[in-house]
Amino acid sequence: MSILVTGGAGYIGSHMVLALLEHHHEVVVLDNLSNGSAASLERVAALTGRDVAFIEGDVRDRELLDRLFHQHKIDDVLHFAGLKAVGESVEHPLRYFDYNVSGTVTLCRAMEAAGVRRLVFSSSATVYGDNDTVPYDEALPTGEPTNPYGRSKLMVEEVLRDLARADTRWSIALLRYFNPVGAHPSGLIGEDPLGIPNNLVPYITQVAVGRRDALSVFGNDYPTPDGTGVRDYIHVMDLVEGHLAAMKAIGRRPGVSVWNLGGGRGYSVLDMIQAFEKAAGRKIPYRIAPRRDGDLAQYWADASKAERELDWKATRDIEAMMADAWRWQVNNPGGYAS
Ligand code: NAD
Ligand code: UDP
Repeated sequence: MSILVTGGAGYIGSHMVLALLEHHHEVVVLDNLSNGSAASLERVAALTGRDVAFIEGDVRDRELLDRLFHQHKIDDVLHFAGLKAVGESVEHPLRYFDYNVSGTVTLCRAMEAAGVRRLVFSSSATVYGDNDTVPYDEALPTGEPTNPYGRSKLMVEEVLRDLARADTRWSIALLRYFNPVGAHPSGLIGEDPLGIPNNLVPYITQVAVGRRDALSVFGNDYPTPDGTGVRDYIHVMDLVEGHLAAMKAIGRRPGVSVWNLGGGRGYSVLDMIQAFEKAAGRKIPYRIAPRRDGDLAQYWADASKAERELDWKATRDIEAMMADAWRWQVNNPGGYAS
């Protein structure tokens, strides 16, 4: 099949492109490189021995999309392009609604015009909002996300539900990611955040490689087993395999389908530090800092719906997540620029 991957030069997208090529799909990537790197695609091409058609451009550019769909016969669209920094979304909400919501609407209009109606959307566990009922399963009502980034994901989910209600030819997967971490085991592609990492695992690996002094653990007074925040971490390779399974499933399923993509269990910040130290054989200096605004104490996925319906489950453990994240970081201390 021929797949359009928006945001394919980013962290998850580049791993997805690799997996698609390995599964013998044709791939077209659209990315404006606002947070991605063309080098990631060169490395994917080197790893797979296959070419990737790369178009540098914006998902909000309707004319470009029309040309793209005219030039390439696309079967499915995997839509990763968007902005994801929670703090920035609080400061610049319009930017987030423009990129994430308007971007998706423009993409869907171009897809509709081209007669392409299969879409896999990168949603997030953030759509469950501040929910005490863990684990989160897909039947839980969505909640009130605590920031504009989360709200943009929930808005897109609603837009896509309305679209599929209005035209039953659409098949759409809403994939709610928990916490994607890790890297391809080659150490050639991985997560390359701009500036100071917001997320736990890239922060840990940057401390270990000497780019940061110490990790701040945001709060140790949560009602969790060791007082630090608990999340459901999922290896990026498991995550992209979940997309392959979802793509296959929506080929047979009209309408909107929702699946959690998580590992189904929670780990605390201290668990993650310990797993890293074991995998990398080095100590992570850390200090306890105040809680981060908007953080929840704990959540993890009920991942059984994906297992039942997609015959998929995450299989890589936190040691593998940390070993792979570390291999990427130590081989590329400055990310793709090193
Ligand atoms: P990323 O920033 O590494 O990748 C996103 C890519 O999209 C980047 O390469 C960027 O240059 C590109 N992009 C952004 N806006 C664009 C636009 N308007 N037009 C074209 N390209 C554009 O992020 P990621 O971690 O790979 O996340 C991919 C998707 O998954 C995002 O939609 C994100 O919100 C979602 N998601 C990520 C996480 C996570 O923790 N990484 C969790 C839940 C959901
Ligand atoms: N965290 C931390 N220090 C950091 C970054 C994150 O203690 O420098 C904690 C955060 O409070 C949360 C967990 O690590 O409990 C995962 O945070 P991350 O930002 O990676 O993902 P989130 O779940 O917030 O999307």
